[in-house]
Amino acid sequence: MAGGAINESIIVDFAKHFTHIGPINGLSGTAQPGVFYRDFERETLKKHVLMPSYPASRDMCQIGGITANNSGGEKSLEYGKVENFVTELKVVLPTAKSIQLSRSIKTASSQD
Ligand SMILES: Cc1cc2nc3c(=O)[nH]c(=O)nc-3n(C[C@H](O)[C@H](O)[C@H](O)COP(=O)(O)OP(=O)(O)OC[C@H]3O[C@@H](n4cnc5c(N)ncnc54)[C@H](O)[C@@H]3O)c2cc1C
Repeated sequence: MAGGAINESIIVDFAKHFTHIGPINGLSGTAQPGVFYRDFERETLKKHVLMPSYPASRDMCQIGGITANNSGGEKSLEYGKVENFVTELKVVLPTAKSIQLSRSIKTASSQD
């Protein structure tokens, strides 16, 4: 949508089949890359939580796009960008190898 992929390249459209939103538990949730942020937000708000790094294009952008782009928006001065909220990624490399990346997120109460 934003024109990030407008050079000569292979375009993979995740919007048709990768649209599953997993359970939202506490402050954690999972979503496939083709999920529109607006739909993810609708689910998180049911649990009274918000992923606050949404861009102004929040009604059009997808989880894969905002993650790859490390988007920010109106709440980013306070909460930072998307990278602050991603704890796990399943990534398919150009070699077709699939890897899982994970890290812990520091919270205000973390000691390290
Ligand atoms: C009206 C408007 C307002 C905007 N406002 C903001 C803003 O406030 N803040 C901001 O940061 N940006 C903004 N943007 C830019 C853009 O919309 C956002 O950065 C958004 O996060 C991009 O998401 P998308 O789903 O449109 O991604 P796309 O444009 O589809 O993709 C973005 C990049 O990520 C790559 N990508 C997408 N999915 C995957 C995937 N699954 N795996 C690997 N790579 C992938 C694409 O190849 C491309 O290079 C705005 C754009 C518009 C048009």
